[in-house]
Amino acid sequence: MLTVKDLVVNYGAIQAVKKVSFEIHTGEIVTLIGANGAGKSTILKTISGILHPVSGEIIYQDRPLKKVTAPKIVRAGISQVPEGRHIFPGLSVQENLQMGAFLRTDRTAISKTYDDVYHYFPVLKQRRHQDAATLSGGEQQMLAMGRALMAKPQLMLLDEPSMGLAPIFINEIFDIIKAINAAGTTVLLIEQNANKALAIADRGYVLASGQIKLSGTGTELLANTAVQKAYLGG
Ligand code: ATP
Repeated sequence: MLTVKDLVVNYGAIQAVKKVSFEIHTGEIVTLIGANGAGKSTILKTISGILHPVSGEIIYQDRPLKKVTAPKIVRAGISQVPEGRHIFPGLSVQENLQMGAFLRTDRTAISKTYDDVYHYFPVLKQRRHQDAATLSGGEQQMLAMGRALMAKPQLMLLDEPSMGLAPIFINEIFDIIKAINAAGTTVLLIEQNANKALAIADRGYVLASGQIKLSGTGTELLANTAVQKAYLGG
């Protein structure tokens, strides 16, 4: 579904991503794990068209995404749940969700997606008329995921969904990612919580200093001694 090939992304003189290559197949959950500053968010932002690569290729469903703008990428079926949620304060929960569907016009289909989102996140339905800013951190994360789902993506990019959340919310968020995937959405998950991410991922890639150091199935990486030492507290 998505192939990233020899991707290089710079911030001025800083080379944040150095010839990174990986693949995501339709139906998979793929995770990129790595420490702070490894380049994970930069890769995600490049796929979603917010940043532009110096070189390399991103091919989505056989089409290169180079120089394609962010709205076109959403229209093509990729939506991002950004790090830090970035919900719209001052708008209600439902209005925030509505923003996720801004490129869609089929009202019946949109209404069906609201039902799906409220099925995954019943708390959002309860609070749909409430200002989104009054939600807890975990609920805001759910809202950010719900908003991305409103675009009806084929590929969902999640940037650190567990960051700053209480353990009970973390488990719930990972369960819902699994359910969203089981319902047909392919997932690219960026996480510092490597244990949880690898536990639900079909495959994973370990990123350090802007380069991929290791790859394997979620199970293989969980069992890998080097990964355990560096990322799993083993
Ligand atoms: P984190 O978990 O902290 O988000 P990350 O793995 O997602 O880490 P990136 O945010 O992609 O890492 O950062 C990769 C490198 O690029 C780091 O060295 C970081 O300091 C640098 N970097 C990130 N954003 C910028 C920016 N806007 N300007 C300059 N350098 C940046």
